[in-house]
Amino acid sequence: MTRSSQQLWHFHGGLKLDSNKAMSTRTPIIKASLPERLVLPVQQHIGEAGQLLVKVGDKVLKGQAVTESSEYISAPVHAPTSGTVVEIGEFPTPHPSGLNTLCIVIESDGEDEWIELKPTLYPNTKSPSELRQLIRQAGIVGLGGAAFPTSVKVNPGPKAHIETLIINGVECEPYISCDDMLMREYAEELISGCSIIQYIVSATHCLIAIEDNKPEAIQAIKTVIKEKALHTIEVVCIPTLYPTGGEKQLIKVLTHKEVPSDGFPSDIGLLVQNVGTAVAVHKAIVLGEPLISRIVTITGNGVQQPQNIEVLIGTLISELIKQSGGYHEDASKLIMGGPMMGFTLQTDHLPVIKGSNCILVENTQAEAPATMPCIRCSACATVCPAQLLPQQLYWMASSKKFDLIQDYHLFDCIECGCCAQVCPSQIPLVQYYRFAKTEIWNQERDKIKSDHARVRHDFRQARLDKEKKERAEKLRKKKELLEKKKMAETAAKKEDTETEIDPKKSAIEAAMKRVQKKKEAKLASDENVNEK
Ligand code: SF4
Ligand code: SF4
Repeated sequence: MTRSSQQLWHFHGGLKLDSNKAMSTRTPIIKASLPERLVLPVQQHIGEAGQLLVKVGDKVLKGQAVTESSEYISAPVHAPTSGTVVEIGEFPTPHPSGLNTLCIVIESDGEDEWIELKPTLYPNTKSPSELRQLIRQAGIVGLGGAAFPTSVKVNPGPKAHIETLIINGVECEPYISCDDMLMREYAEELISGCSIIQYIVSATHCLIAIEDNKPEAIQAIKTVIKEKALHTIEVVCIPTLYPTGGEKQLIKVLTHKEVPSDGFPSDIGLLVQNVGTAVAVHKAIVLGEPLISRIVTITGNGVQQPQNIEVLIGTLISELIKQSGGYHEDASKLIMGGPMMGFTLQTDHLPVIKGSNCILVENTQAEAPATMPCIRCSACATVCPAQLLPQQLYWMASSKKFDLIQDYHLFDCIECGCCAQVCPSQIPLVQYYRFAKTEIWNQERDKIKSDHARVRHDFRQARLDKEKKERAEKLRKKKELLEKKKMAETAAKKEDTETEIDPKKSAIEAAMKRVQKKKEAKLASDENVNEK
């Protein structure tokens, strides 16, 4: 291990923010009541969507897979309760685009009856690849918000050597407290999940990073580590600073290492997993349960009872608001995620998905301040944890210089919002970066499409040219054959003609010969007479 347990480092920039977490941590996690209908988006992860395994009218059991995929970067979706598939179609889902996506709607039968579960009580009796397969089958994705399939992340490849597993319990964004509460109440399950992931990737050490504003969580985890006498797992208490929970920022704080700009933590011997993901891994392996629920923070000044709720995936947000006492009269804005990195929802008639960590209800009635021109004060660059030049990125995004903006490392921007938070001109900088990223992705997708179209066109042209050549060759051969035939016929005709002429010619020649002979005979006879 390269760090002493006391030593920590700093990343560039960052902000001290009001945490506003206490309002949702006053009470233990409650279990949401079983909803009548669950809306399950088929794609809740980064990667390929799965294929449907059910149709309308099918009965399903709790934990039964309803999608599957043969693609490597994908994760199946499971029925969160028993019931009947009543609809399959396009429904609105929580996504910044606001677009509808394909969903499976399940009507609960109220029985909540599980499929037959296959627990693995001693994970170390299975090989790492068998455990990865179980994680894949359980549909686990990163629960910190990224929703990248965990089975892929815990398979860094044969060349990578993971020395340290980092478990991210930082949860630095204001208002969100689901990871804090999970660490307090599921400390044993968390440690079990850490050990399993550590075993899968053969990591020598495991560091559980927690900000110093979560003393209960730190204590709960330290107690389990002590009871189990685990010497390779360590809790590291780090100073509260936004956005320490960013993967690259956390790595810098713990190890002083920098992840290469277009590389991965595994390139420098590290793997980072969220605390919720580690608990999901424990449930999948030790209990045999797929990912069908998660803890969601319902919070903000616009909701009556801020709290954390363990909720089935597919439950509508409106149900959770109801179970949290409903909206305050002055509730004005609904956000999925936190105030810094979250996005506004237009309705609460949307399902909770695997990556939903927080529903924030704001009550601000104030108009958004007017945007002013950039005064080049550099305050944004001072706080940028990715050491970018936010004002330059803003200028290039607003003037649509999408080639140039990539030279300024737009894709290293983690959209933390620090720059926008300090901008005296109130420029919504992150919106410009998201716009530029989306445009570049669209252009790349269009380019791939047009490249495919060009390849298809070239292929078709080559096929047409080949067919044309083949037809010409065939025609040439046919012509050649015809000419040969014609020549042969002409020759034969000539021969015939000659054969027809021959008898006359022979007769004439014979007659001429006879005449000649007669002449010669007469001449001889005349000579004899004269001699006498
Ligand atoms: S903080 Fe705002 S005004 Fe200042 S340089 Fe950055 S973008 Fe411009
Ligand atoms: S949003 Fe992007 S550019 Fe702005 S501070 Fe965060 S990382 Fe830097």
